[in-house]
Amino acid sequence: MQLRVRRGAALITGGGSGIGRAVCFELARQGWPVAVLDIDAGKAEQVAGEVCAGGGSAHAQAADVSVEAEVRTAVAALRSQLGAPMAVLVHAAGICTFAPLAALSVELFDRTLAVHLRGAFLCVQAVVQDMLDQQWGRIVAISSVAGLSGGGPAISHYAAAKAGLVGFTKALALELGPANITCNVVAPGLIDTPLVRAAGLSEETLREMERRAPLKRIGQPEDVAAAVGYLVSEQASFVTGQVLSPNGGVYL
Ligand code: NAD
Repeated sequence: MQLRVRRGAALITGGGSGIGRAVCFELARQGWPVAVLDIDAGKAEQVAGEVCAGGGSAHAQAADVSVEAEVRTAVAALRSQLGAPMAVLVHAAGICTFAPLAALSVELFDRTLAVHLRGAFLCVQAVVQDMLDQQWGRIVAISSVAGLSGGGPAISHYAAAKAGLVGFTKALALELGPANITCNVVAPGLIDTPLVRAAGLSEETLREMERRAPLKRIGQPEDVAAAVGYLVSEQASFVTGQVLSPNGGVYL
């Protein structure tokens, strides 16, 4: 395979925790300067510090991915701090609050779509010119098994947002392929992160899900980071518009 001298940095939204945090470490391990973007400034700074302590290069900025001006300001600051255009975008920022349909508020429905879907759109728009200029790019959207299967009761808003990410990313793959920008989805099954804990899943429920999973465990953030790492690597240069689902076999 022809080796390519890459120039640029990797922007990870939701990089302050869970899956996004593990992706920051994986991409730093691959040699990417890492731009950590998160609504929580403290968590983003913490991860950037850990990447630097491990020998990598990283900077952090706080922004709400659903707010255009915040995204544009943060991306511009990260570009200048890292001294490089963005060549990789991994959109991992997310929220998940359970709500049965009858009790699902318009506010929660809109907020969930805004973070996952509008956030993806705004972040892609903020970095795509960098990728077009270089005629090289990698876009990875973190969806969910819920976006493929519906997931279960009380997450219709979350499933809608995650399914939307699949269509959005496939359309991007068609539009941006001629510029050598690959666009793929990673759709994890249940992963042990603060999001799952905050959503209120009990230990008993988690153990029951492990018992039912063909691989007999729930996932770790590193399981998802490995899938993202593959899609970002040169080995995946012919892979675009795909959904890769690290889920332990729960969705077959
Ligand atoms: P997490 O809570 O550990 O991390 C999510 C991060 O996103 C947090 O640091 C949070 O501060 C940040 N964030 C939230 N809203 C934001 C906003 N508006 N702007 C910027 N940052 C924001 O959760 P996680 O489990 O690591 O989730 C990461 C992604 O993976 C999410 O999109 C989630 O939907 C998806 N996912 C998670 C699981 C799972 O089981 N944990 C499964 C499938 C998909």
